[in-house]
Amino acid sequence: MPIIEVKGLKKRYGSFEALKGIDFEVDEGKIVALVGPNGAGKTTTLKILSGFLRPSEGRVAVLGKDPWSHPELKKEVAYILDKPNFPPHVKVEDFLREAALMVGEKPEVGEEYLKALGLQEYAQRSFSKLSAGNMQKFAIAVALLRRPKLVVADEPSSNLDPGARAQLYDLIAKSKKENDTTFFISSHVLTEMEKVADEVIIMADGQVKAQAPLGQLASSLSGSSFRITTDRPELLAEALKGQVVDGKVMVAEEAASLSDIDEAAKRVGARVVSVERVGSSLDEIFKKLVGEE
Ligand code: ATP
Repeated sequence: MPIIEVKGLKKRYGSFEALKGIDFEVDEGKIVALVGPNGAGKTTTLKILSGFLRPSEGRVAVLGKDPWSHPELKKEVAYILDKPNFPPHVKVEDFLREAALMVGEKPEVGEEYLKALGLQEYAQRSFSKLSAGNMQKFAIAVALLRRPKLVVADEPSSNLDPGARAQLYDLIAKSKKENDTTFFISSHVLTEMEKVADEVIIMADGQVKAQAPLGQLASSLSGSSFRITTDRPELLAEALKGQVVDGKVMVAEEAASLSDIDEAAKRVGARVVSVERVGSSLDEIFKKLVGEE
């Protein structure tokens, strides 16, 4: 059974339709990224899944239940939606110890999360002295502490530098592997989700434009190309009606087969050193789907 099911979901704010009838499912144990540009409807979707907003139309089920009428879902699902807000004068370490005790975990478990997120040096500080990014990381550590079945997080990496993002995604991957936690995470950068997501849902203008495993999305939408390393790139490019990019010959897979490349190379006397198959960049795919130039 999917852990999240959304069917025909619409949300109107007054006369403005922010969600225009979206459908998608998230399977248990997966890391699924909800990606789209600003205003696509990501936060609206996550708030509905969290039971903070009521759908205008359609069906939403989280662990088989309607989140609007089942607030107790919050015991099994961790929602990280707004800017984290911890008591400013409490020490990080003390808060974490209490939080661990409350969910029946040993305090050391909290320390492990701090370490995984590179936060151990802040353990003795109070929250008022923590940066926005570190607060965000801490919110994830607290959420994971109670080993939720599902984590729904709205742009959890928005304030993080590249190193901190990598730590966060490592922790997410570890939590999925060790505890079978499902993650539904929004982001407006597709490439950022590349390393961690099993699947992506691309949203724009209140609609779902695509849902697919990342690799499949790339190969089905990109139209792959061959990148050929050769000693005579200009000649080979001309023979194959391709282009020279950074000294390599690029030719669309649909325009030439491997044997066409072989033949053309023989014809023009070029030595082929290697042929790689490459997809469009994720950025290009994303732009194609959301209609950005
Ligand atoms: P971002 O990446 O900028 O956070 P988003 O994909 O999360 O964007 P939403 O915040 O869900 O998008 O907003 C979707 C659309 O609904 C936007 O056009 C937004 O202006 C509009 N919207 C959101 N909340 C409200 C509201 N309370 N009242 C009216 N319009 C709203």
